[in-house]
Amino acid sequence: MQKIGPIMILEGPNNSKVPYSRSLFIDCPDKVLIDSGADAKILLDINQEYGIELIINTHYHPDHTRHNHLFSGVKKCINPIEFETAKTVEGVARANGVYQEWGSAGVEKWKKSLPQEWTQNLGEISGTYEYETDYLFGDVKVQFLHTPGHTSGLSCPYFPDQGVVFVSDYDMTSFGPWYNGTDGDIDNFIASGKRLLALDADVYITGHQKGTFSRQEFTEKMEKFLHIIDRRDETIDKYVRQGMTFEELTNIGIFYPKKSLENSIFRTWERSGIRKHLQRLGISCSTSTGELLHAK
Ligand SMILES: [Zn+2]
Repeated sequence: MQKIGPIMILEGPNNSKVPYSRSLFIDCPDKVLIDSGADAKILLDINQEYGIELIINTHYHPDHTRHNHLFSGVKKCINPIEFETAKTVEGVARANGVYQEWGSAGVEKWKKSLPQEWTQNLGEISGTYEYETDYLFGDVKVQFLHTPGHTSGLSCPYFPDQGVVFVSDYDMTSFGPWYNGTDGDIDNFIASGKRLLALDADVYITGHQKGTFSRQEFTEKMEKFLHIIDRRDETIDKYVRQGMTFEELTNIGIFYPKKSLENSIFRTWERSGIRKHLQRLGISCSTSTGELLHAK
């Protein structure tokens, strides 16, 4: 297990690939776990050895709240923007674009597909933390930076004394930036990414797969990562100029591999993500025919 000063990095299966994520444990008298997406056994072992007393979720996504339910007596907090969203399945369905794409019937169907633990993980969250405020856990200083874009409320925990930041879903994977919920925003994603680069930090811990980066590495990776947004713009623009309708465009696989679009939540996010790029490109979509038109 990697440890940077008091910050222990806990892995999920498959290098913390979705539907898992990396967790941090702050080895201090307050016994704080940040995100619960790491391997269940690793988390339970940490709990046995240290006794987790507080769980902090960077945002409400299921890969980051995955094992909240394993610690039923432990207080759990999330960022203030997403506290209400996380309270109800309807709120999460809206934020995921399920309502936008499929209406109430789609939400009912989606609800039935959710594992019981999933709602428990969110239901146990009972409090919030403040953004941009110094918290002291023992003598470890942490600030929860508000870094909207991936979701509207995502926070990145920053440890100024150690020069460490947990960049969560700025994961630098080849999939590229994810802002596909209705609470995601491309411009904010870019702005928050640039803010992370401007921090006084030497260690960037990603939430999935790639592990940790030095400042220089993270800067180089970020440029490529954000460039994927431009490539998506170019691809979508090209197909619209060829005369594709919205439905045709959503079957290509701009974000997700074409085959995975059979899965309805990926299809939902594909559609929702494409809508954001269309808006960005000034392309309107006819609600009746799905015809796509560039604004003159
Ligand atoms: Zn996420």
